[in-house]
Parts: sequence; structure tokens; C-alpha cells
Amino acid sequence: MSTLWIPLNHPRRTSLLIREKIVEGFKRGLVALEGLIAHGRGECFDYLIGESTQPFALRAIEAAVAALLLAKYPVISVNGNTAALVPKEIVELAREVSAKIEVNLFYRTREREEAIAMWLREHGAEEVLGVGEDASAIIPELFSERRRVSPRGILIADVVLVPLEDGDRTEALRKMGKTVIAIDLNPLSRTARTATITIVDNIVRAMPLMVKKAREMKKLSKTELQEVLRNYNNNQILQEALKHILNRLSELSQSKLTLL
Ligand code: ATP
Repeated sequence: MSTLWIPLNHPRRTSLLIREKIVEGFKRGLVALEGLIAHGRGECFDYLIGESTQPFALRAIEAAVAALLLAKYPVISVNGNTAALVPKEIVELAREVSAKIEVNLFYRTREREEAIAMWLREHGAEEVLGVGEDASAIIPELFSERRRVSPRGILIADVVLVPLEDGDRTEALRKMGKTVIAIDLNPLSRTARTATITIVDNIVRAMPLMVKKAREMKKLSKTELQEVLRNYNNNQILQEALKHILNRLSELSQSKLTLL
């Protein structure tokens, strides 16, 4: 659908444009019907956060990039919503930190796997793991289709970036000893609370910033990158995200009614 109908001064214009990308992704066969609902949950938290990247997200982004640059075998896990929203940035980040790209779906169908892989290739990806027979390894203790992974990808990764993940899989990956980086607007989700590093921000804002940071931080030494990680505390970051929402709501509850 054309986005011309959204007036330039519409207060939710950016949010509506992102929503159109998800709908477009659904029509292309990238996004599952359930993905549309998951996006709605994210929109709600973005509203509460103020639809902008906050300092706690920036600190998590720096730690995430440090972890990716220090990794021996980093992998970026891609689901339908991620592919629909930030295909170019996935490819760029993978290039900057030398990571593999792997398709991993909760609602797995061969058609959707292939549609996502093709979409990523159209955006410059050279190799996309996790499609068809390539997803032949199994993550223990998981019962959804997300347990199927590539033996050349997530199975052997030491650091996995899992934007828009579900809590069970984050926990299973942690139990396998992996560093898990999540991007999740909901600081209360099981994913956010189980990941090693949680970026509480919209993926459409976080991913371009990660690419930019990766280009900058590549110049740092190993010791400097390790220092960034050492100073990072995920629990504190999640607390800051909740405090930010709390303060925002408190301020709004005391002010005169205006459009946000
Ligand atoms: P969990 O299993 O971790 O408790 P959940 O069941 O709440 O998570 P899902 O329905 O699996 O979550 O996935 C949706 C999650 O993705 C939500 O936490 C939502 O806030 C987040 N989300 C949706 N869209 C975005 C987006 N564009 N950017 C960042 N996070 C998003």
C-alpha cells in the first residue's frame, strides 16, 4: 500500500511508516500473521519509551558491538519481522563484525525461510544459513521450531544477536554457554531479562546505530573492547529502562493534556 496517505505532520507518522513495512513484509511472505501482533506489543512499549533511543539503549548497543567484535564466531539470527524492517542493516552489520546470518523462525515454513533468504540476498547478503536441510541441528530443551539451527551457524556460535526473540530460546542459548544479545522494546519480557545484553529500543533505530558503532569501535584495541564489556551491567540497564518509563508516565500524569 502507498504511504502517501499519511500526512507529513501526523504525530504517529514514523510509527505508521514502520507498520507499513511490516504489512509489506507480510504480503511478501516474510512476516507471519503472529508477527503482526508481536509488532503491536512492541509499538506499545515504544510509545511508553517515547519513540527515541535512550542512553540505556546506547550503552547496551556499545556493549553489544564490543561483544560482536570480540567474538570468535558471531551469528545474527533473523526472523520475519527483523527481515522486513532492517534487511540492509543486517547485511551491513554482519559485514562489519564478520558475522554469519541465519534464518530462524518460530513459525517455520520452507516458503518463508526461502522468501527471507532471498530478500536478504537482494539486500547484499552472500550467504544465508538455516534454510531447509541446513537447519539440521537441534538446540536442546526447546520444543518450538526455533530449536532447529544450522550446524555451521547458531549451533557453534559464541555470540548470537537475536533481535525480537522469544524467552525460551534466549534461555536455551544461554544454557548452551552463548552470549546472547537481544533487541526488545519490552524491558519486562523474558527475553529482555534472560539475555546477556538487552538493547531496549526499536530495531529500526537500534540496528543503524549498531552499524555506525561497529565502524567506529573496530578501531579500538581488544583490551579497550574488553573494558567496555567489563563495565556493562545488564540488570542496571533494565532498571534504568523501567525507571525511564516510570518517570515519563509520572511527568505526563501531572502535565496538561497535549498530543504526544
Ligand atoms: P518473551 O517470550 O520474551 O516474554 P513475548 O512473548 O512478550 O516475549 P513475542 O510475542 O515473542 O514476545 O515477541 C514480541 C517481542 O518483540 C515483544 O517483547 C515486543 O516488545 C518486541 N518487539 C516487537 N517489535 C519490535 C521492534 N520493532 N523493535 C524492538 N522490539 C520489538
